[in-house]
Amino acid sequence: MNSKFWHANVGLFPAIMVFLVSMGVTLFSWQQVKKREILYQEARFQLTAKDIVDNIEKRLTQHEQILLGSAGLFDASPTVDRNAWKAYVDRLQLAKNYPGILGVGFSLLLKPDELARHEQAIRAEGFPQYHVKPVGKRDLYTSIIFLEPFEGRNLAAFGFDMASERTRALAMWQAAENGITTISGKVTLVQENKGKVQAGFLMYVPVYRKQSKPQNVAERRAALYGFAYSPYRVDDLMEGILGRGATGVEFQIFDGTELSPENRLYDTTIAAGTTVGQQHLRFRTVRQLHVFGRQWTVVLSERYGAPQDADIEAVNNLLLTEKQLPQVVLALGTSISFLILFLMYFISRQRDAAVRLAEEMTSEIRESHETLRRSEERFDFAVRGTNDGIWDWNIVENSFYYSPRVFELLGLSENDLPQGLDSLQALAHPDDKAILQQQLSNHLQNHATFDARFRLQVQGKDGTEWRWFNARGMAIRSEQGVAVRMAGALTDITERYKAEQMKSEFVSIVSHELRTPLTSISGSLRLACGGVLGDLPPKAKNLLETAYKNSLRLGALIDDLLDMEKLSAGKMQMHFEVTEVLSAVELAVETNRSYAEQWGVGFDIQAQLEHAFVRTDPARFQQILANFLSNAAKYSPKSCNVDVTVARIGSMIRISVRDYGPGIPMEFRERLFQKFSQADSSDTREKGGTGLGLAITKDLVEGMGGKLGFESEVGKGSCFYVELPEITVTAQNQPTLTEQS
Ligand code: ADP
Repeated sequence: MNSKFWHANVGLFPAIMVFLVSMGVTLFSWQQVKKREILYQEARFQLTAKDIVDNIEKRLTQHEQILLGSAGLFDASPTVDRNAWKAYVDRLQLAKNYPGILGVGFSLLLKPDELARHEQAIRAEGFPQYHVKPVGKRDLYTSIIFLEPFEGRNLAAFGFDMASERTRALAMWQAAENGITTISGKVTLVQENKGKVQAGFLMYVPVYRKQSKPQNVAERRAALYGFAYSPYRVDDLMEGILGRGATGVEFQIFDGTELSPENRLYDTTIAAGTTVGQQHLRFRTVRQLHVFGRQWTVVLSERYGAPQDADIEAVNNLLLTEKQLPQVVLALGTSISFLILFLMYFISRQRDAAVRLAEEMTSEIRESHETLRRSEERFDFAVRGTNDGIWDWNIVENSFYYSPRVFELLGLSENDLPQGLDSLQALAHPDDKAILQQQLSNHLQNHATFDARFRLQVQGKDGTEWRWFNARGMAIRSEQGVAVRMAGALTDITERYKAEQMKSEFVSIVSHELRTPLTSISGSLRLACGGVLGDLPPKAKNLLETAYKNSLRLGALIDDLLDMEKLSAGKMQMHFEVTEVLSAVELAVETNRSYAEQWGVGFDIQAQLEHAFVRTDPARFQQILANFLSNAAKYSPKSCNVDVTVARIGSMIRISVRDYGPGIPMEFRERLFQKFSQADSSDTREKGGTGLGLAITKDLVEGMGGKLGFESEVGKGSCFYVELPEITVTAQNQPTLTEQS
């Protein structure tokens, strides 16, 4: 990811930071909850372990009670026979109340001299096979004479001398000598004659002869009568104590403190016949159990994933939190962290977008400010360059804004400037007020162009003076079309006005002082050439004819100049009349025929469109046609006629003059109607002409409301035409516009 990416996603930084912090808190909480869960599990394990050990201890104590009770039988009754023993044990309902006890028995102490009589007596009870086993010579004998229930495995123990075996003997003499209950070390019971062999042990309670109250070891040895005892198969005992319910806790019981297989009394996994799980140990605890003179070591452990005690499991299932809390915390925390990440990212993106938008808008505003500034600057330069003053009239409030140049133009200070329209008009020359007012209202009401010339009183250095001004402007209108504001420029045209005056004076001088004498000169020359002076020598006649032709050309040039001047000064006055087109065309053709003949060219009037009327100034119309015809004649090849056509095109009447001359060169067409323009400058000399004809013709045609045009093909000829709106002549001889479409 490059820096551009980060630049575009600035908001991602805080979002990621918050995400990381939130994830950190989540992981921390997860760890804590997990730790708590482990502590809880361990506490539960320790409790279970304690329960197990307590139960074993408690049960053994109960068993002691049974033996103490049975021992009490001997204290209470003169003789305890087999039936009394059986009655006592039956009453206990061992199988139901004390599962795990193999039996409750009595072992009688016998001296060697008593042995034979004893065996005799028992055999007499109906057990002919009876003998004390193992057979052999010993200093003392003991014999299990009662063992209830007297059936099954227990029968094997009948007559067994437990004192003949070392482990049992140790426990027996310890009990006898100290007057206490003892249990033996690990033994294999004589009852183990079928099925799986279990580890076993025995519990002894000493029984002393009646009325004897032995106080020490010697007295106890002397008073010893026998032992109330219980044999235990450890697997069965543990099953009796713990039941079959799984606690998930495995344990082993060792006789003594050495944890060796030889010492092992019990192992849950072996007892249950289940294989040891492969999972690692989760918890382990070792407890010492002091029971009736022996020390047992109980090693308790729990593996990962071990089945739980059903009750605990049920509670845990209810309180989902205990077991699943860590996962829930982790999942919830992670989800919330991601949510925060996305939220923050989303918000930051929104904010970035807003900032970008604001920046774009700011730069757009800056740009438009810049554009506006430049445009104002340009406008300012332009205005300063033209030397115009700018005014802005708020028509609704009748107040004015003037640019500084206006003050200069009027020679006034800012305070002296007229504010309302009236006070401004008061500055105007009395002769110009009416026309100014007229033009203004024409613009405001009729939308005519506002371009007025008038004089204003100006404060000059040497007092007030009248100066000519040109005001141009444009109104700004409301939706309803009412002018609400008007702005424009004010130009001092005094100098220009003076120049125009001088020019028009000059033109009038040319007109009168040049044209009038020239008319008389050419008149005189025509007379002289016509023979008024009699026959002249040929040389003189030639000279006079040249002079006459030149005087005519000079006259034509002056006429063109005067026309041009009149047209551009707007002083060309038209006298409109209804004109019958064909007659006018025929007249023009006739008038120009002799001129054409000089070039060896004739005119053919092609179309006979009679009774077509247009509105023209007849003299000027003839001038237009004469220009077309003379040009066509001039530029036609010799003996090639010029075609003149009158046709109706829509609502217009078109008069065309076609020649078959050289045509108009492409590059010249643009300048064709400009003043003094000729395709070939040598024309002036060869063909005569000023280059003013078409310019004058165009102005005249437009002045009559018509249109001028041409078509031309280089080398093939040209066709010049004029189109004028057709009019119909009513009964009252009143011309109106035709209604042809
Ligand atoms: P001029 O008095 O020189 O004829 P015009 O304005 O009538 O002035 O014509 C201008 C120029 O247009 C001419 O000099 C010529 O070059 C060109 N011109 C006008 N009519 C024709 C035509 N019928 N054929 C060829 N060229 C023409």
